[in-house]
Amino acid sequence: MAEECSVVVGVRIRPFNDREKTLNAQLCVDVDGPTTILQNPPEMALESGKGKEAKRFTFDASFWSHDGFQVGSDGYCSPAAGSRYADQRTVFETFGRRILDSAWEGYHCCLFAYGQTGAGKSYSMVGYGANKGIVPISCEEIFKRISANTDTNLTYEVMVSMVEIYNEQVQDLLVPPKDRPKKGLEIRESQQLGIYIAGVSRRPVDSYASIEAVVEEGTENRTVGATLMNATSSRAHTVLTIEFKQVSQAAGQQGQKLSLINLVDLAGSEKAGQTGASGDRLKEGCAINKSLSALGNVIEKLADKATGKAKPGAVIPYRDSKLTRLLQNALGGSSKTVMICAISPASSNYEETLSTLRYADRAK
Ligand code: ADP
Repeated sequence: MAEECSVVVGVRIRPFNDREKTLNAQLCVDVDGPTTILQNPPEMALESGKGKEAKRFTFDASFWSHDGFQVGSDGYCSPAAGSRYADQRTVFETFGRRILDSAWEGYHCCLFAYGQTGAGKSYSMVGYGANKGIVPISCEEIFKRISANTDTNLTYEVMVSMVEIYNEQVQDLLVPPKDRPKKGLEIRESQQLGIYIAGVSRRPVDSYASIEAVVEEGTENRTVGATLMNATSSRAHTVLTIEFKQVSQAAGQQGQKLSLINLVDLAGSEKAGQTGASGDRLKEGCAINKSLSALGNVIEKLADKATGKAKPGAVIPYRDSKLTRLLQNALGGSSKTVMICAISPASSNYEETLSTLRYADRAK
């Protein structure tokens, strides 16, 4: 893993879905160690006359979700020997654990999943049923670590909040939709608190079961809240923030360390204009793109800073969107940031996959 970079980037390729299988979809990605290889779909290669030119993107890790692939009749692409299959636990061990380690050291951190709708963001973050994703595994791990502590001078306080950013408005998911302020909550800054959301619900939790119940409540409020659930779920950014405080009473070492662990399921990155969106849909699309492009800009600037490419005094544009403003505490400085890019294996999604990989490339 490239420790010197401010952002750790991983790629996760989901299996073919039923629709792609029915359509006999072509595989257009491959994995070679930490490198993700994107093959031009054959029809494109023919058109451009450039042959099967592949694009290579090397990040910190690249994972298959499964062992075997259905390979096209022309034997177009097959998983490289030694490529890695990763289950939910492996993905947590690779990306989630470092987030928790840095929280234990007292740093803020941020892990987010990026990609087009249906590429596997929620699967990686939340998971389904027994296939728990990074969020539940991390919550479990936090309380496992807390109960393993034998230092009687050290106590822990954990609080959770959960918000959704939709149309550039911050909505409290721990409040039923009918009781929320129409225009959402404001993001403010103070010397004591840093960046914070004014009036957001913060629930104390003391076990995995209690944190799970809060997350369930928040998730439920999304569902109940939006009649347009289908549209909304993929068009909102969901941010789960775990405030993790360690309080020490040891003689001579009294004090506390606070870390904010932000786990973010981003809105689908597909382009809004593509489907001829208009009216509200178009407004939503613009708002999503604003937050996602602001996040891309912030991450690119941070990477430039980390690699010495930035001009002295270059400003990081956190204020350009609600999302980046909200995550400002947890992006940059000594914070740890992890980006998981979820992609489809199918050539029918080539353009979106390419744009996801290019987005991630800006972080390096
Ligand atoms: P997104 O949140 O990006 O819209 P989802 O996480 O809902 O996408 O994934 C779409 C579908 O693909 C779901 O049915 C999910 O179970 C499946 N899926 C996604 N990633 C994986 C994976 N790594 N392994 C197995 N199934 C996956």
